[in-house]
Amino acid sequence: MKTIGLLGGMSWESSIEYERLINTEVRSRLGGVHSADLVIRSYDFDTIERLQAAGDWEGAGKLLAADARLLQAAGAELILLCTNTMHLVADAIESAIDVPFLHLADATAAAVLEAGVETVALLGTRFTMEKDFYRARLESRGLTVLVPGADDRAVVHDVIYDELVQGRIIDASRTRYLEIIDRLVERGAQGVIAGCTEIELLVTPSDVDIPYFPTTRLHALAAVEAALETS
Ligand code: GLU
Repeated sequence: MKTIGLLGGMSWESSIEYERLINTEVRSRLGGVHSADLVIRSYDFDTIERLQAAGDWEGAGKLLAADARLLQAAGAELILLCTNTMHLVADAIESAIDVPFLHLADATAAAVLEAGVETVALLGTRFTMEKDFYRARLESRGLTVLVPGADDRAVVHDVIYDELVQGRIIDASRTRYLEIIDRLVERGAQGVIAGCTEIELLVTPSDVDIPYFPTTRLHALAAVEAALETS
């Protein structure tokens, strides 16, 4: 079993889900007292949020790349970045390491394609919904990606930062998300990507009538698959 490196704490509310999902999957596949072999770097999210708010993506990329190198030096044989948003700097990380980097959008696109969904809605931070780095990666796999209108994007973004990363799960916000998903379905969405690693803490697959793609779960399972690959 390969050692998995996690760049986490963005936020820790979802990073502990990564750890739980990865360990649970390893136990179910290997049995007994097996658990995952992990190296974790967990940030103070305040540091990351300030870099995002300042638009200092170069600084963020340097920080994450340096820590990815440290994970590799600590024994990580593959590396996951446990946030959709910070994949904006995936290139900086990938070019700093010699071990595989499992891109979150690739794990997500694989699941969407496998479900036979062609037009998919993307919910996430405004960075993920509005910038090109994530959508383009999905579109390059042949998917059509829909994002909410401007007012709805603001709601989705604010709920993430004002509630979810602070551990606040509020029923009224789930209702608002489901209304937003309904509007995306009216526009043709056949499935919806929970493209922020905390969204699946608020909206679960049973809340949604169409195929739902929880990115934390998909990424965690892809990591276990890669870690247990025998070739
Ligand atoms: N975890 C979130 C994501 O997947 C948002 C927090 C962040 O900006 O990293 O995008």
